[in-house]
Amino acid sequence: MIDGSEEAGSMAGEAQADCLFCKIVAGEVPATVVRESETTVAFRDINPQAPTHVLVIPRVHYPDAGSLAAAEPGIAADVLREAAAVANQEKADGTGYRIVFNTGAGAGQTVFHAHAHVLGGRGFNWPPG
Ligand code: C5P
Repeated sequence: MIDGSEEAGSMAGEAQADCLFCKIVAGEVPATVVRESETTVAFRDINPQAPTHVLVIPRVHYPDAGSLAAAEPGIAADVLREAAAVANQEKADGTGYRIVFNTGAGAGQTVFHAHAHVLGGRGFNWPPG
């Protein structure tokens, strides 16, 4: 159910009316879904930064990975497991892949619904940009 904002006193984990990824979970915004589980949805990033660039999101709404892990550690583990499964499905695990959780605007987070970026199919530098 999508009803109201955090300010209106909605329950932790509830879908947020103004959240793009909650709308993808609800099927209200289209996405190219590559995997689904009871607790997660994985879809291709619309602005891919690597040959494989898939986002794995929990169906429940938390603003970032840390708050998800604190409230729902089992679902946070599901996100990680599904991220690895995506890499395997995309055959990105042979050469190595990267799982990224941008957390906070200063780290490049633009959508405040927890998500793992799964990036693969090319080499990666360290430190990241
Ligand atoms: O970590 P960050 O919050 O910046 O990641 C959000 C990601 O969501 C971006 O990589 C952006 O391309 C992606 N996105 C998407 N589909 C949308 C809107 C954003 O895949 N409709």
